[in-house]
Amino acid sequence: MGLATVNRKLAVLGEFFINWGGSIVVTCVLISTYYCCVHIVADNMYTDPVKIYWLTLLAKLIILEIAVNLACFVYYSRFNSVTYWHRKSCVADLRVYAEDSEAQPEIEYATGQPNLERHLSWEPANESGSKFCFTCNKEAPQRSHHCPLCKMCVLRKDHHCFITGACVGLGNQRYFMVFLFWCTIGLIIAMPHLFFYMNTEVAYWYPFGFLYYIGPVAVFRWIFGYTPFGQACFSTLFSFAAASLITAGGFFGMQVYYTTQGYTMYEYNNLTVRASFQGDGENLGERFRLVFGRNWFVNFLVPLPWNLPVLTPAISDSLFRVRSKVL
Ligand SMILES: [Zn+2]
Ligand SMILES: [Zn+2]
Repeated sequence: MGLATVNRKLAVLGEFFINWGGSIVVTCVLISTYYCCVHIVADNMYTDPVKIYWLTLLAKLIILEIAVNLACFVYYSRFNSVTYWHRKSCVADLRVYAEDSEAQPEIEYATGQPNLERHLSWEPANESGSKFCFTCNKEAPQRSHHCPLCKMCVLRKDHHCFITGACVGLGNQRYFMVFLFWCTIGLIIAMPHLFFYMNTEVAYWYPFGFLYYIGPVAVFRWIFGYTPFGQACFSTLFSFAAASLITAGGFFGMQVYYTTQGYTMYEYNNLTVRASFQGDGENLGERFRLVFGRNWFVNFLVPLPWNLPVLTPAISDSLFRVRSKVL
């Protein structure tokens, strides 16, 4: 096998892990958390079968919400593409037509005696307008960003999520937020159960029991034969669940905050974008309807893919700004 073949195979493997590695880890954590809380801990913690019944039902509902929204998130990531929105939005098309017919700014060619002063004060005509994506080989609105992993220009890009293997953009941000919401709720319910089990079955056995809440410590002890395998697994799961709760909860809070401000995470932290673009929409309602469509709260119970984002003329103008002039 030649080196080139090995390289190609490694690249395929790498791409697989970039796209699916995070999802595989998250799925394993979710399913094992579900299994441990409902089928192991609940039997120890509750004596009332009615309580166990309701916990099981709630856990199934949460797992369903997470799975459906994750699937929608990955599927609808294709609708982040700038091309899709250009086709969808007649506003954008009209703007492009209208501006094509306008006189283009004069291009000054290099002459023998360049006028230095003019060059120093020269501002590019499209400072607040479009940009050219050399990878897609086409003009793209300024509020889009090329993603080399998704292989397209993503409109209103928030970030590329390595956990789910897709970009968060205008087409799928709502599923991302609902996914994070249910992950957070699920883990908030799971943590006291895991903590109860850790306290009664795992950590109390030893002096310095608090160390057993830390997964790597338990795994280290298992390798040297001090801790049974099952307890090392439980400690690891506890650590993963705690980390996931902080990540999912933190990200959900951030997503809500940036949405209330009318920006994506990328745009909010990019001062140039914040300086040249007002936040989307006039009020909170418009900002939430841009991400979730009408009746935004219903999305948290059932995904509504047919309920498209509501783009007011002002929002379209900012989103699809292409070749507008600095006045
Ligand atoms: Zn591009
Ligand atoms: Zn991406």
